Amino acid sequence: MVENGVNGITTKKPQEPSVNGGDTAGPVKANAKTGATGASQLELERCLLCQLSAQTLSSTRAPGAVGEVWSLVSANWMRAWRRYVNSRGCEEDGEMDEAESLGHPGPIDNSSILVSQPELNGSVNGSTSSSGRLRPHLLDGVDYSRLAPEAWQQLLGWYGLAPGQVPVLRPARQLGRLSRRLDIEPYPLRLRLAAWDRPNEQTVREFSRTDSLSDVSKEAVRLLKLAKRPFRLWLYDDAAKDAANLRPLPTAADACHRLDQLVFDDQCLLLEVQDASGCWKGKLSAGDASALKSIPPPPLPPPSWHQSQQQKVLQQKQQNSQILQQQASPYLPGVCGLANLGNSCFMNSALQALSNVQMLTDYFLSNKWKSELNTDNPLGMRGEVAAGYGRLISDMWSGRYSSISPRQFKQTLGRFAPQFSGFQQQDSQELMAFLLDGLHEDLNRVRAKPYVEVKDANGRPDQVVATEAWRDYKLRNDSAIVDLFHGQLKSTLVCPDPGCAKISVTFDPFCYLSLPLPTDRSKQLIYHLVRSDPNLPIIRAKLVLPYEGRISQLCSEIARQMKLKSADRLLVADVYKNRFYGVFSHEEYYNSINCGRDVIYVYELDAPIYSPDHTVVKVFFNTTADRLDNCFGLPVVFSAPHEGLTYERLVEMVTKKASKLLSIRNERGEFPVWWDPTDNDEASDCQPPPLFILRRTNTNLSSEVQIPDSLFNSDSLSKPRDLYLAARFSPEAKRACCNESAVLQYERHESLQASASNANRRTLSDCLKLFTAEEQLGKKDAWHCPKCKKFQCATKKFDIWALPKVLVVHLKRFQFDRICRNKIDNVIEFPLTGLDMGAWAINPQPQAPATYSLVSVANHFGGLGGGHYTAYGLNCRDQRWYEFDDSIVSPADPRSVVSGAAYLLVYVRSDLVHRSGESVELDRLTLAPADPDDHADNNGKQSSDSSCTSDSDEEEDLMDVS
Ligand SMILES: [Zn+2]
Repeated sequence: MVENGVNGITTKKPQEPSVNGGDTAGPVKANAKTGATGASQLELERCLLCQLSAQTLSSTRAPGAVGEVWSLVSANWMRAWRRYVNSRGCEEDGEMDEAESLGHPGPIDNSSILVSQPELNGSVNGSTSSSGRLRPHLLDGVDYSRLAPEAWQQLLGWYGLAPGQVPVLRPARQLGRLSRRLDIEPYPLRLRLAAWDRPNEQTVREFSRTDSLSDVSKEAVRLLKLAKRPFRLWLYDDAAKDAANLRPLPTAADACHRLDQLVFDDQCLLLEVQDASGCWKGKLSAGDASALKSIPPPPLPPPSWHQSQQQKVLQQKQQNSQILQQQASPYLPGVCGLANLGNSCFMNSALQALSNVQMLTDYFLSNKWKSELNTDNPLGMRGEVAAGYGRLISDMWSGRYSSISPRQFKQTLGRFAPQFSGFQQQDSQELMAFLLDGLHEDLNRVRAKPYVEVKDANGRPDQVVATEAWRDYKLRNDSAIVDLFHGQLKSTLVCPDPGCAKISVTFDPFCYLSLPLPTDRSKQLIYHLVRSDPNLPIIRAKLVLPYEGRISQLCSEIARQMKLKSADRLLVADVYKNRFYGVFSHEEYYNSINCGRDVIYVYELDAPIYSPDHTVVKVFFNTTADRLDNCFGLPVVFSAPHEGLTYERLVEMVTKKASKLLSIRNERGEFPVWWDPTDNDEASDCQPPPLFILRRTNTNLSSEVQIPDSLFNSDSLSKPRDLYLAARFSPEAKRACCNESAVLQYERHESLQASASNANRRTLSDCLKLFTAEEQLGKKDAWHCPKCKKFQCATKKFDIWALPKVLVVHLKRFQFDRICRNKIDNVIEFPLTGLDMGAWAINPQPQAPATYSLVSVANHFGGLGGGHYTAYGLNCRDQRWYEFDDSIVSPADPRSVVSGAAYLLVYVRSDLVHRSGESVELDRLTLAPADPDDHADNNGKQSSDSSCTSDSDEEEDLMDVS
């Protein structure tokens, strides 16, 4: 047991925490505030601390709306504050460790996370960003904490800000182009902007990394007060030694690129505006060039990626575990786990999904990538991402490790995409898209991208336009990634104005298909049917219904399923605790039924429930000893004809309908003797007391009365349509005569056997159908028709034109709309082999085989903004499925691969899946790209013939693998 101060073990009283913040000289405001520290503020501070700790644990730290301004605060200060608050807490309880006795944290001090002022002085015109610039490579949760506006305001009010500092504010934005996500950007992209003819007059501005170049252009024109004429952007590459390396940024062709894929932090963009005569100045003059060179380069990031103590400890731990895992006995290449570096399973799952694409992995293992490395592509990552990936793949497929730490690779990625650098859960699809794009540009065989004009289809045949678009694309983009992953999409926009009717057709490359999921428009209902004949068993059955409908429709479906005479004799009730929780009228909508929770009983009556000469009688069973609403058995329902209705008749009918409950009888149909015949009640010598008495009650059994005599009048007007009765047993009668378990027995209907009902099955084909469905654009994303020059709610359609060798399918499980963010967990059925994409590719030319086999899946479990990622992969060496759960890899049952968690599917054209696992025929990667007009001579046959060929130095590199 841990002792406390009461037992006198810790005796030293702490010093009174210094109101003036110890030796930290805080601003007057902070002193005044903290000087007023009372119990109420301490409570508030503790409450805030609890909230922040809870947020960190649940990782639900996302902003609620665009523009919400979050603050970043040094983790050092936060720790000091936490210790201070906790120590004050302990002090009051009389338990206090001397070491814990820490002083006032002083004003909020962010100097440990901000770029210091002298470093910032390198910026031009003194226009530094007012939002506070972070030192490079800081980690969320380790170096700084992110605070919601309310939390920040509270802390700022209590402690103030250290002198000379500005708050580190970050507004929430929609990040990510494909799956939009609301978040803050700790590292916005900082660019220097200048007019072409005034390169020295630079202005520093921050942009979102997901902005486009046109966003930058607009801002630059506004800031630099330039004429509103056509303009072009030039990139000044600081790494380049001479001004000849000023490169034009082709805005049109790369408009879809994120800003951080085109430019680096602190790069300088020059905006050239066409002069009044419509001419460009063209090349830079010598004077301009020297002026540019005189601009001081931005400060370099520190040599090592992270200096903090925690990081060093973490690195040491990882190195130790790597040494432990390195064993003499080899592991199966590729069956290698990846350590979780703190919420990095999103990256691990994407990496495992790609690692099992054998053609890509063999390309990296062969070292062929080294000869294609493009280190000075301004759109690339200086070759570092490709090199990092190459090292990772080489380790994963060396057979030397059961698991490795992808720390170095994550570091490299984080340098180019800081959104992936923190300890926060991200989208594995976004990471895979970023990685494939980075690998492509790092391995782009095109060294100087020519300018290519975008041409209009102008009614020319699809075949011509598609081939032309692909040729143009290949002029600028040619890499192993294009060869393997890129296909072609046709998009068609039609102007709805009948007078215009402009049809715009474009052919764009795609690297993966983002497929919408069918929203579940059906409901599954499990119900129990109670037949009107009490001797027939209760049947439990399942029904698939349209999402919305009336109870009358539900009854029709049940009548059809159970082959009953008519639906209007069915009464639907929700039974809970042996009484009715709800009885539904036929006009009601069944949406009020909670299909997952409610226990639905459907009673078949002898007459239609709205019959004018019948009363629907609902009977509960309870005992005279219990509360009225304490029921047992299953309530019974029957329709009682008004004709000849007496109390005795009602008792008779209840006894008959409740025959399952009252099934304890002898062979002559007599109930056991529950009363004491020797009781000297003079009347009871031959007549037993009634088994139960009937009382009239109400729907919620809150009261009971005798059944009114008027009920048995011949006047049918006095007959109620509904009658609730309670059948009250003496406890002895219940004990002796009631068989409670009998009413719980039911027969299973065959509909329960069908595990996945056809009506509820969703397949990949359904998603492809939705993807290629024609859709009308809303007013918000109206299309500017180039012919009639108006914004039009055009109809838009996607078609797959040419298929890639490796097809990545993204199931859009995360749905975003204005009201809510939502995850769809439905199982989408997809085949492991034999996926026929031929029907979906509309190119009329003969295509290469269009049958695909699954090689990997990335899974997402849990909800938004958190959850866990894993991957399934088909190992090409032993042709078995494995499950990759961070550092743990285990064999997987192929039947478990298809699940509601499947998020990214990676398919490889079946003729290219190498059964043997020998090294891939590498040349086909470069010589047989997936050109639409190249498929004819690219049949599956040749691959199996020549799949074993590889040149000798590749053998060398593959030695430790095979
Ligand atoms: Zn038009």
